[in-house]
Amino acid sequence: MTILLVEDDRAIAEALIDGLRTNGYSVSQVVSGAEAVAKVRLGGITTVILDLGLPDMDGTEVCRNIRAFSHVPIIVASARETEMDRVDVLELGADDYLVKPFGIKELVARIHAVMRRATGSGAPVTQLTAGSLVMDTKARSVLLGGAVIQLTPKEFELLAYLTREPGTVFRRAEILRDVWETTWFGTTKTLDAHVASIRKKLGDGAWIESVRGVGFTLRVVA
Ligand code: CA
Repeated sequence: MTILLVEDDRAIAEALIDGLRTNGYSVSQVVSGAEAVAKVRLGGITTVILDLGLPDMDGTEVCRNIRAFSHVPIIVASARETEMDRVDVLELGADDYLVKPFGIKELVARIHAVMRRATGSGAPVTQLTAGSLVMDTKARSVLLGGAVIQLTPKEFELLAYLTREPGTVFRRAEILRDVWETTWFGTTKTLDAHVASIRKKLGDGAWIESVRGVGFTLRVVA
């Protein structure tokens, strides 16, 4: 459930990240078009907020690239306000357009609107995707390359937790707190046992990477 902010202006980015986090969103920021496309490809992004003036390519190009493989909602946020720009980006597949400067409340309202349209009901997004791994948190199903993977309830919660933010390294203490709802570190062996079992079921240990002395991260296995 992460919002991807594509913005190279540090002051604007900081203000938006602050505002979005205050409103309960998890936010990931990148400063270039290439990084934006790569991040969406990795999965786990629920909405993209896209600046048009980026250092490596125009935002319209980013929009076109993302649309070649993803339906993720895209909200263009730009200082360009001519009617022509607006029509251009909407035609390229963006879902909405906000003219800078705008307030956080307006942005949050637009995010709600595009996510509601994307899920068709206003219900929170229940599908998590990372490469060939697809998890449905409502149906509690896991597909890997189209094949059904059977996980225990705790294994499912742990894998879903990591799949929400592929590439993010979660500390052991964080995982125990959020997935096992405990701060008792004696359970860290339980965590290792669950990771080992999930790796075995996915058929490739590379999906869950151990970061020595820190914790675990989900890696998309090609
Ligand atoms: Ca810019």
